[in-house]
Amino acid sequence: MATIEFTFLGTGTAVPTLRRNHPGVHLLHQSKTAHSMLFDCGEGAQIQLQKAKINFMSIDNIFISHWHADHFLGMFGLLMSMSFEKREKELLIAGPEADKIGPQLLKLFNFSFKINFVDSSKKGIVFEDEEIIVESMPVKHTIPAVAYRFKEKDKIKLDKKIIKKLKLTGQECKELKEKFRIKKDKTLVRKDGASFSKKMNELIKLKDVSYAIEGKKFVYSGDTIYLKKMENFCKDCILVHECTYFDRKDIKHKQHSCLQDVLKFRKSAEKIYLTHIGRKYLSQTELEKKVRKYKNVFVAKDLKKVKF
Ligand SMILES: [Zn+2]
Repeated sequence: MATIEFTFLGTGTAVPTLRRNHPGVHLLHQSKTAHSMLFDCGEGAQIQLQKAKINFMSIDNIFISHWHADHFLGMFGLLMSMSFEKREKELLIAGPEADKIGPQLLKLFNFSFKINFVDSSKKGIVFEDEEIIVESMPVKHTIPAVAYRFKEKDKIKLDKKIIKKLKLTGQECKELKEKFRIKKDKTLVRKDGASFSKKMNELIKLKDVSYAIEGKKFVYSGDTIYLKKMENFCKDCILVHECTYFDRKDIKHKQHSCLQDVLKFRKSAEKIYLTHIGRKYLSQTELEKKVRKYKNVFVAKDLKKVKF
C-alpha cells in the first residue's frame, strides 16, 4: 500500500515571518518507486527541507504555481545545492510558461544536471509515469497562475473468486492486466464431468473480472480567488488551499481567498489545509479556534507533516 506524506515548508505570504516561511509544500509518494516533489519553492525552502529531514537530492519535480518571487526564489539555492552535490539525474520544473520563463531565470547558472521545463498554463497533464499523474488547472490571480492535482493512478485488482473460477494462471493474469483482454483455452466440460475433446477460446475481459481501487488525490491551489471550478478539481482530495485572510473584512488584495471562500470546498474535498496565511495573523491558536467547528478543516503551520 502506497503512502503519501506532505510537509509544509512555508505557510506564509509575500513577506515571511519568524513563524511562517515563504510558500512551499513537499510531497513524498512512496510506492514501488518513490516520488519526491515540491509545490512551490519559496525562499529558504532548502533550509526548511533540512529541518524537516527531507533529502533535497531526492526531489525530481518542482511545480511552480505562478512566478511571484515568494513562490519560486528558493529554487535557485536548492538547484545550486543539488549541483554542488554533483546531481546527474534530470529534473522537471513546471509552471505557467516555464518553457520560456525558466531558461531566462536560470541563464546565469550552470548546473551539473539537465532541467526540463514544462508549461503548465493550460489545463492538462504536466507529469505522468506508471504510478502517478500531476495535472494543472488555471486559477485566477494577478498574473497567470495554476493549481496542481497529484493523483495516484487507480489500482486494478483482479477478483480472486472469479479468477479461481476461470482457472486463470499467474501468467494469464499478468497478460490480462497488460492487454485488458485475453483468450483462454477452455475445455468444455459436460455436466457429468467427462470432458469434450473439443477446446474453445473464451474471451476474458479485464473489466469483467476486476475492480478498481481509486488512487489518492492531493490538490495545491497556489494563489487564487475562490473559483467554483475548483470544486470539481478537488473532489475527494486532500486540498491545500491558500487562505490569505481569515475574515472578509481583512481583505486588502482582492486576488486572494479568505476563510469563507475556502470553506465552500468542504462539500467536495475530503480534508482542507489552510496555508498562505497573512502575516497579520500572529497566533496559530487563535486561527485554530476559528476553524475548530468545521470538521476536516485545519490551519497549516511550517514543518507540519501530514500522512494519508
Ligand atoms: Zn503568494
